[in-house]
Amino acid sequence: MLYNVRSCGHFSTRCNKLGVQIVLYMDTKQIYLDNAATTKVMTEVSEAAAYAMTEVYGNPSSLHHLGIDAERLITYSKKQIMSALGVSADQGEIIFTSGATEGNNTAIFGVTETYGKRKKRVVTTTVEHPSVEKAFDRLEEKGFEVVRISPDENGEITAEAIAGAVNENTCLVSAMLVNNENGYILPIGEAFSKIKKRYPECFTHCDCVQGFEKIPLSQKKLGADIITMSGHKIHAPKGIGAMFIKKGVRLSPLMVGGGQQKGIRSGTEPVPMIYAFGKAVEILSGSLNERYSHACEINAYMREKLSGVGAVILSKEVASPYILSIAVPDIKSETMLHFLEEKNIFVSSGSACSKGKTSDVPTEFGVEPKYLDSIIRLSFSYETDFSDIDALVETVSDGMKNLAKIRK
Ligand code: PMP
Repeated sequence: MLYNVRSCGHFSTRCNKLGVQIVLYMDTKQIYLDNAATTKVMTEVSEAAAYAMTEVYGNPSSLHHLGIDAERLITYSKKQIMSALGVSADQGEIIFTSGATEGNNTAIFGVTETYGKRKKRVVTTTVEHPSVEKAFDRLEEKGFEVVRISPDENGEITAEAIAGAVNENTCLVSAMLVNNENGYILPIGEAFSKIKKRYPECFTHCDCVQGFEKIPLSQKKLGADIITMSGHKIHAPKGIGAMFIKKGVRLSPLMVGGGQQKGIRSGTEPVPMIYAFGKAVEILSGSLNERYSHACEINAYMREKLSGVGAVILSKEVASPYILSIAVPDIKSETMLHFLEEKNIFVSSGSACSKGKTSDVPTEFGVEPKYLDSIIRLSFSYETDFSDIDALVETVSDGMKNLAKIRK
């Protein structure tokens, strides 16, 4: 229950019963440039979830027709995801998870539990999301030999570097497709195909969270045995993710229970979330190339305009167009973030996933120490338009003048 509405120009503040103040902006458009952290759910997608909640509410394991109807929604969503990955049902399984954190943990611990009794070497990179990074830290504590590949002096992670770290004792290689902090694209297809040629029994996992439905990809091109995806990065709700698991790969489950989803992920399937995820994939698959071109234009425009006002572009020229990492010299990331927020522009300081903890990823990519405190991540969606960029650039430029005065 909200009460105590106080209007003040372009925003109003409200206090809830607990006395927590909520600021509501009234007449200013929200410019949301934090789509790598999470995205707004599409209307059709939320309608799909509501439909499944209220109309198709059976337990998919039930034998009556309400259960069978619910199972059908799951089958629909699996088909959408398989089609987006370019795979058919006989090539593997789609398993739904609560998100990519669970998917990454399931892939990494699932493979190493099953295949890592004798093969104790595992390979990853130093620029992974914490849900991969920390899983590998745990493997190391358990006695695995963990090889972490860093970007070279040019800030590149080459296919040779990843594949070269694999030997006959390696049971798993895990690397992301698109880095969540700067959009860097790793050469996964090339690396995994080299690995499979030399060591066909080494399993390959790709965290595709920032690539799926954003950049053109397929399971075949990636050569990945396991692919992890997350719903909330593609305009579906938070709390749903999926894994593709190639036929023949046996994963030891993280949790035991009722044996749903082939025993890999026990627990009653969250049908509304699964259906919503499938709907988002269906809608987005129809516009991937169009959205990609739009993101390229937005990204190029932004690079030019931001450089023009003195911001430093940190993302490489060849990267996902959906993410742009910049530094605003001499202004702390959080100071700039809140300055932008006052103008209803929402961005992230470095990586939102690290919850204010400093990330090592920029240093790994060779970002100069003087910029480390000043990094802002901008990330786009199909809704981002050129006027949003103009507003951002103007505000950053304003901030550079005003915040610099405060500093002196
Ligand atoms: N991997 C990458 C690359 C990510 O960007 C994220 C989300 N920030 C995750 C994994 C974790 O995804 P989820 O929030 O669905 O657990």
